[in-house]
Amino acid sequence: AKEDGPNKFRFFTEAMNVEILERLTLENGLRLALDRDELFLVYQPQVNISTGTITGLEALLRWQHPQLGLVPPSTFIEVAENSGSIVPIGEWVLRTACAQAKKWQDAGLLAVPIAVNVSAVQFRQQGFRELIREVLHDTGLDPQYLELELTESLLLTNADVMFSILQDLREMGVKLAIDDFGTGYSSLGYLRQFQVNRLKIDRSFVRDVAVNPDDAAITTAIIRMAKALNLEVLAEGVENEAQLSFLRAQHCYVIQGYYFSKPVAVDQVVEKLRAVSIK
Ligand code: C2E
Ligand code: CA
Ligand code: CA
Ligand code: CA
Repeated sequence: AKEDGPNKFRFFTEAMNVEILERLTLENGLRLALDRDELFLVYQPQVNISTGTITGLEALLRWQHPQLGLVPPSTFIEVAENSGSIVPIGEWVLRTACAQAKKWQDAGLLAVPIAVNVSAVQFRQQGFRELIREVLHDTGLDPQYLELELTESLLLTNADVMFSILQDLREMGVKLAIDDFGTGYSSLGYLRQFQVNRLKIDRSFVRDVAVNPDDAAITTAIIRMAKALNLEVLAEGVENEAQLSFLRAQHCYVIQGYYFSKPVAVDQVVEKLRAVSIK
């Protein structure tokens, strides 16, 4: 045990160094990513299985790093949040998604909202409302065609301030969704007060909905609650027929997931808008 000590210690610090080094690489890379044109968006359709139409598109961020390759958002979003890079990056995402949606609309290809993920760090920046107003003005996108995806935890800290920001966004005509719903701690009261348009049931509940009674119960409860509060509800991460028929039986008709389409590159969206077959 005695000679274990220094070895263990060295091993530990080496592992730590690697971790710190990786984070620094990501941090520095993210600072440069915008200027170097390494970021791009992919789009995933949201479909209504009862009307057979695409009801929206979610914009999802991708980072093509020159050495690391395609870095997934699960690796870099948190780093961007902690280092502050998420603020300029988030603004770029908003501008790019809205400009693209407007382009599709002008070409007569799209008449549904574009959904954009908003980080809590970005949302809490002074002037977030003004940024949204400016982006809509600059791109010419009608506010009803922008849906902001927010998380529960964002809404619960500093609720009064959040409430006033959400109210202004609603008055602007922007749509609001709560992302990953069920993983946070929203109370019914908050949901009413915040006047969001939509709940997105988190993929972790949808995954085993057809085989796990607990997940089935939670999903059913969320769907009923949404209906009772007059909110739209969408199920995320639908991959198979079994999940789909469960959701259909519970009257949850708006769905997003690999079953219909993975997120696709910008030049494949038009094709998708025509080709997604819904039944
Ligand atoms: P999210 O907002 O919950 O987005 C849904 C994630 O689930 C996406 O992962 C999507 O590709 C994936 N997904 C969709 N359908 C399926 C399915 O059927 N099966 C499985 N296994 N996965 C599915 P992605 O694109 O890797 O994004 C991960 C997370 O990163 C997002 O989760 C979101 O929290 C964050 N993110 C992505 N883009 C942005 C962005 O522009 N800004 C911010 N702040 N966060 C973003
Ligand atoms: Ca989302
Ligand atoms: Ca989600
Ligand atoms: Ca998620």
